[in-house]
Amino acid sequence: MAKSGTKYVYFFGGDQTEGTVNMREVLGGKGANLADMTSIGLPVPPGFTISTEACAYYSENNGAYPEGLREEILDHLGRLEKLMGAKLGDKENPLLVSVRSGAAQSMPGMMDTVLNLGMNPDSAKALAEKSGNERFAWDSYRRFMQMFGDVVMGVPHDDFEHALQAVKTERKRALDNDLTTEDLLEVIDRYRKLYHDAIGEDFPTDPIDQLFKSINAVFNSWNNDRAIRYRQMNDIRGLLGTAVNIQTMVFGNMGETSGTGVAFTRDPSDGENMFYGEYLMNAQGEDVVAGIRTPEPIDHLKAVNEDAYNELLEIRTLLENHYKDMQDIEFTIQDGKLYMLQTRSGKRTVFSWLRSQVEMVEEGLIDKKTAVSRVPAGEFNKLFAPVLDTDMIKKNGIKSVSRGLNASPGGASGQVYFSAAKAEEMAALGQDVILARTETSPEDIGGMAVAKGILTTRGGMTSHAAVVARGMGCPCVSAATDLHIDYEKAQLSVNNQVLKEGDFISLDGFTGLVYLEKIAVKPSEIVQVLHGEMKAEDSLLFQNYTKFMGYVDEIRELKVRTNADTPADTKMAVDLGAEGIGLCRTEHMFFGTERIISVRKMILANNKIEREKALAELLPMQRKDFEEIYKELNGLPATIRLLDPPLHEFLPNDHTSRHEMALQLGVTVDEIAQKTAQLHEFNPMLGFRGCRLAVVYPEILHMQVRAIIEAAINVSKEGIVVEPEIMIPLVGHYKEFEYTRKHAIDTIEKVFAETGKKVEYKVGTMIEVPRAAVTADEIAKNAEFFSFGTNDLTQMGCGFSRDDAAVFLQPYVEDMDKQFYEYDPFAVIDVDGVGKLMKIAVDLGRQTNPSIKLGICGEHGGDPKSIAFCQSLGLDYVSCSPFRVPVARLAAAQAVLAK
Ligand code: PEP
Ligand code: MG
Repeated sequence: MAKSGTKYVYFFGGDQTEGTVNMREVLGGKGANLADMTSIGLPVPPGFTISTEACAYYSENNGAYPEGLREEILDHLGRLEKLMGAKLGDKENPLLVSVRSGAAQSMPGMMDTVLNLGMNPDSAKALAEKSGNERFAWDSYRRFMQMFGDVVMGVPHDDFEHALQAVKTERKRALDNDLTTEDLLEVIDRYRKLYHDAIGEDFPTDPIDQLFKSINAVFNSWNNDRAIRYRQMNDIRGLLGTAVNIQTMVFGNMGETSGTGVAFTRDPSDGENMFYGEYLMNAQGEDVVAGIRTPEPIDHLKAVNEDAYNELLEIRTLLENHYKDMQDIEFTIQDGKLYMLQTRSGKRTVFSWLRSQVEMVEEGLIDKKTAVSRVPAGEFNKLFAPVLDTDMIKKNGIKSVSRGLNASPGGASGQVYFSAAKAEEMAALGQDVILARTETSPEDIGGMAVAKGILTTRGGMTSHAAVVARGMGCPCVSAATDLHIDYEKAQLSVNNQVLKEGDFISLDGFTGLVYLEKIAVKPSEIVQVLHGEMKAEDSLLFQNYTKFMGYVDEIRELKVRTNADTPADTKMAVDLGAEGIGLCRTEHMFFGTERIISVRKMILANNKIEREKALAELLPMQRKDFEEIYKELNGLPATIRLLDPPLHEFLPNDHTSRHEMALQLGVTVDEIAQKTAQLHEFNPMLGFRGCRLAVVYPEILHMQVRAIIEAAINVSKEGIVVEPEIMIPLVGHYKEFEYTRKHAIDTIEKVFAETGKKVEYKVGTMIEVPRAAVTADEIAKNAEFFSFGTNDLTQMGCGFSRDDAAVFLQPYVEDMDKQFYEYDPFAVIDVDGVGKLMKIAVDLGRQTNPSIKLGICGEHGGDPKSIAFCQSLGLDYVSCSPFRVPVARLAAAQAVLAK
């Protein structure tokens, strides 16, 4: 990696700045911006930046420096000393520096800062003399020992704190600031001893030794657990390493005319165009962060130092105009004079992203494309979810007990129940209920529908609970494996704590955290407006959201449909911008109280005649479902999938429910048990499901197709255009498709003949069995559309059970020495494997049928990275749960911009 002649160190300061703003990869974000701020004339204390390439070499070569690096650093130190007219750690005119990390993408908290480097007893004395402030000088030394000892050498932070506290207690000093010079000398003495005890050598007094130890610590910090974890969690990839910034110290702790602060050029939580920040006088940076003293709001600075305050306001405008985005700045005032220590793009909530970007477009600062490209699609659905009251969590110090998968966003709090029936019963009494199950099944749907939140101890991102909860916009935490649910005792236990049925629990579906307490929940304003519970003109958030989605739709090429199977979901999705239904899972309609009886009759039927009788009961109900959905769609297309799941899912699996069913149907419990046993399969996901049901019992298909077409004819009489797309699930062989398609068309022709009316329709299939993907040319001969069922395609393509894979997929994705898959393949398309199957199917399908319509309806249809892949495949649309529709619209637009 290291080429001879490579430049590793870049100077900034005076008129000698070598770096530029475009060198983020090499100088890190902090280094590039320090160089840039210096170039545009802002008051930045001079210094130099060691490049990320040097860090990469160091990491790859067991801590060795590339040839010439040490000399280059010393040479730049010499330049800095010359410019400043001072010498590092000198006993007469000491230069002191800060050492800070800074990668190309900001990673706050990865490596703490070392301030006041160059301090030793001699330079402390010189500093005392020069500043005329002895206490300040020794306090600076004390702080340096603590930071260097902790951050660079790994002496426990608490040991220093205890030593400091001991002196404060012995000498009856309430605050750090009450410590006298004498006290500080005592603290320093104790620090020296505790450092020696921990490290086995004296605290270094040679400033060059201090400097190189600190540089190495920053390099090492690139690969510490915390940094690796941070990069993983924030999906930061492909960076070389961290840069190291060595910068002349300016002191905010020189007395009451000095101070330090942090500020945002707009509000980072709601995006309002206001100067937002805090400062502390007579303090160094860590005092603001540590929360020992309460900082003052930034506008109070005006009364303390009006010039510095006005200069900050000017810099605020200048920086926004220069970077064209909200900035997060750090500054220090030394003896009345303002210095800028950092500027970077401000981290903010998605609410702040939305408002700041819309307002910047309206201010003429940026164009719509820039706004669309910046708002993080991965966080966009947070706009729609209710949220746990974080102020309350902080204020009351509420601790989480477990962290599962953040399967569906939003905060939920309520009383916990362990069965769907009990949840329904208590919800009917007006309780906010949380349904907790080891895992859910279609039988639990009633309880899930009334629950404020869903918690499971098993399952993954496409488990039943996760899919259904996302569809409902219901917060869900899945696979919280630390929790143990005992159905018999109706209780949940975790770390020796036991929660009984009816006790309070709270879930954070954004983070996967679980709390065993009641926490207040606030609803999303956008949802309130869409539900007609709030006026659009009263919600700035809703107005900004509407404007922003306007920008998005101007750019987007992919259509966005929804996975919906009720009129209410359809309406919600259309309100959120869905351009049709991409997947209507008809089986979800079979669980209503009345119809489940007919469904069960159909399953128990001993022959075709009995089965058809039960199906005849279902027909009017299905037809009505479709009519209502078509009306909500009002001309938008609807892909309706025929029955898919294994039949046993419709039968009860506990004794009480079997008893109830026996009474309802006039059969014996034994008969039900027998049928259940007969339907039992070792691999139900690979079993009697999908089109296999229609092949063996075509009468089920006949009923469903009839309902779809009759409903279409009825609704089209009202002047609404309806063009149903009938989708055959789980096709693997083209003959399965041909067979079911023929039955569908025969039924349709029959309905046309009976009614004397016709509607346009399409017949197509899901591509979710690997065999279908690799024989797509044969299937496409007569299929008018393909919709990729990437949940099953991933399950069968990778050989991972979609309901049980969390146990090994977590290490497969997260553990440093494993990471066989970049992301959970059920959440993000495994491009190299499953993606290849999709590509084959697209190419083969288009080969025989160039006009074939192509979409995706697996859960990946709502995932931004997968949507970008779908764009690259040239699909026509993606389909996702209603609450992911806006995210999908945004991701589709971003995929165009990234092309
Ligand atoms: C799929 O397999 O991707 C799909 C959409 O079908 P389901 O999730 O209903 O099996
Ligand atoms: Mg499927």
